[in-house]
Amino acid sequence: MTLSKSEPTTIKQTKSSFPNLTTEHQPPVSEEDMIQAVRTLLLGLGENPDREGLKDTPKRVVKALQFLTSGYHYSLDELLNGAVFHEDTDEMVLVRDIDLFSSCEHHILPILGRAHVAYIPDGKVIGLSKIARICEMYARRLQVQERLTAQIADAIQGLLKPKGVAVVIEATHMCMVMRGVQKPGSWTSTSAVRGVFAEDAKTRQEFMSLIRHDPTFH
Ligand SMILES: [Zn+2]
Repeated sequence: MTLSKSEPTTIKQTKSSFPNLTTEHQPPVSEEDMIQAVRTLLLGLGENPDREGLKDTPKRVVKALQFLTSGYHYSLDELLNGAVFHEDTDEMVLVRDIDLFSSCEHHILPILGRAHVAYIPDGKVIGLSKIARICEMYARRLQVQERLTAQIADAIQGLLKPKGVAVVIEATHMCMVMRGVQKPGSWTSTSAVRGVFAEDAKTRQEFMSLIRHDPTFH
């Protein structure tokens, strides 16, 4: 991903948990209805959906959207598959620079960014790759960045009951870059802190300094 970076535009502390939105039920429309809807969109945009290049586009758009929102169909239990281990450590565990590809719920346009996730265990840990999988599960839904950040923090808090969790997401929103205010290079930073990260400024500071970008480190 080659994206220019400027200073984060906002720092938000999200404390409350958002509802865990899922679509477990069968969708009330068929895939064929969805394909027809994209065809209608193309017509509305003045295109000819029957020309060669667009012939299979409605089908492809539906497939792409289904993939980008496939996180609705996973549960944390399925994802973790029992990968929670007992471990007597209370040192901070940090996974930084987790690539994130999400879609904004207002425009269904990409949100591209990185997540940094830290927790301080209280007897339980999870495999590091599972942290990335949790981020991916929530990212592959229609999102707002604040909710995505809080959902990841709350998932880890709920699973491990650690001493604390901190999540920072830095992301660029294509709906801002390509339309609207058209601000390429603008990044939004959101954070969600739980437990000791919320209560203790020193612990929070340690986390923030660990995720600070070091140009010599890739
Ligand atoms: Zn948007």
